[in-house]
Amino acid sequence: MSKQIVEPKIRGFISLTAHPDGCAANVRQQIEIAQIGSPSETQGEIGNVLVIGSSTGYGLASFLVSSFGYGAATLGVCFEKEPTETKPATAGWYNLVEAHRLAEVNDLHIETINGDAFSDEVKQEVVQAITERFGQLDMVVYSLAAPRRRDPNGTIWNSVLKPIDEPYTGKSFDLRRHKVIDGMFVEPANQDEIEATCKVMGGEDWKSWIELLSSNGLLARECRTVAYSYIGPEVTAALYRRGTIGRAKEHLEKTANELDAFLKPTDGGAWVSINKGVVTQASSAIPGVPLYMSLLFKSMKQRGTHEGVIEQIVRLFTDHIGPGQTPILDNERRIRLDDLEMEEAVQREVLERWDLVTDENLDELTDYAGYRHYFEELFGFDVPGVDYKVPTEVNRNLPNA
Ligand code: NAD
Repeated sequence: MSKQIVEPKIRGFISLTAHPDGCAANVRQQIEIAQIGSPSETQGEIGNVLVIGSSTGYGLASFLVSSFGYGAATLGVCFEKEPTETKPATAGWYNLVEAHRLAEVNDLHIETINGDAFSDEVKQEVVQAITERFGQLDMVVYSLAAPRRRDPNGTIWNSVLKPIDEPYTGKSFDLRRHKVIDGMFVEPANQDEIEATCKVMGGEDWKSWIELLSSNGLLARECRTVAYSYIGPEVTAALYRRGTIGRAKEHLEKTANELDAFLKPTDGGAWVSINKGVVTQASSAIPGVPLYMSLLFKSMKQRGTHEGVIEQIVRLFTDHIGPGQTPILDNERRIRLDDLEMEEAVQREVLERWDLVTDENLDELTDYAGYRHYFEELFGFDVPGVDYKVPTEVNRNLPNA
C-alpha cells in the first residue's frame, strides 16, 4: 500500500508521473463510447484478438473496442513501467489496471503481457498464451509506437524524426515554454538513420508477428490484421510524411500488401488504416505536430467533426474491419479514417492560420487550450471528477503482467 498525492511532472512532451484515478476515468469514458449501440449484439461478436501496443493511444482504443465493444477475448502486449515504492506507474499501466478490473465485472476475458514486443521472449510468451488460453486469432492489431528496437542479436535501432535530403526550417511549438518557434532548424537524416527508423516503425516486425502466429497455426480462417499509419498536411510533410517516419510508414503500407497476399489463401486480409492526428505520447514528440494539431482541433471542433482515438477506432470497426464489413479503400489500398481531417476546407484554414499564428494570437487562432487538456489527460491529469488533492493508491496490480 502506498497512498500518495500525485502531481503532474511535465517535461516538454512527457509527464514523469501519471495519476491512477485520472487514467481509470479516461478508460471508463472510452469503454462507454465503445459500448454505444451494443456492437456485439447489433453487428456480431469477434472471437479472439491480439493487440500489439495495447496500453495507450490507438492501441488501447483497439483493445477496448475489441473486448468491451465486440466481446472478443483480447490479449494485449505493451511496454509499461510498474509502480515502485517511490514512483507511480506509467499511464498505460494504470489504463490497463482499470480495463482489467472492468473486464472482470463484465465477465470478459482479457490478458496483458508487459514486455518488449520486438523480443523473441515476448513473442514466445504470446504464442504460449494464445495456444493455452485463447485459441486461433480472428484479428491482429499492430499499434506499436516505439523509439527504439533491440534485435534478438543485440543490435539496437533508434528511430529519428528528421527530414530527408533537405534540412527543415519552419514553424514549431515549444511545449516547455508554450511558445511558437519560428525558424526551427532540423538537419536531414543520414542513410543509417533512415534505415534505423524503418527498422523500428516500418513493417518488418508486424510481418514477423504474422508469420510467427501463422507458423504456429494460430491464425483463424478469415483472420484480419491492421496496422496504423498517418499522412497529415503539407505543413508537417517535410518532417513527417517525406521525412524518416514517413519512409517507415511507406514500408508499413507496403508490408500490408505483402501480408494481404500471404493471408489470401485462408480468406484473410491485411490493411493499413490511415488515422487522424490525435494527441498521444508518440505524436507529442514530433516537431511541428503539436502546433498543427492545435490549429486542426480548432477547425474541426468548429465544424463538429473532431474525433479522438476511441471515436476513430469505433468507426474503423463499424465501417471497415468489424464483423461482416468489407474495408473501404483508397486507390493505394488504404483505409482512410483521416477523411475528415483532410477535408479541403479544414486543411485550407489550417494552412492560412499556420502562417499567421504567433504567441499573441495563439488562443484566438488555435485550440492550444484543448491540445494541452488532451495532453495532460494522457497522464490522468485535468480529468473532470478526479480530486487531485486526495492521496491515492499508486501501487496497483496489473494481473499476470
Ligand atoms: P502511443 O504512444 O499512444 O502507444 C504506443 C503503444 O506501443 C503503447 O501501448 C506502448 O506501451 C507500446 N509500445 C511501445 N514500445 C513497445 C515495445 N517495445 N514493446 C511493446 N509495446 C511497446 O502511440 P499512438 O500514437 O497510439 O501510435 C500507435 C500507432 O498509430 C503508430 O503506428 C502511429 O504512427 C499510428 N498513428 C498515430 C497517430 C497520432 O496522431 N497519434 C495518427 C495516425 C497513426
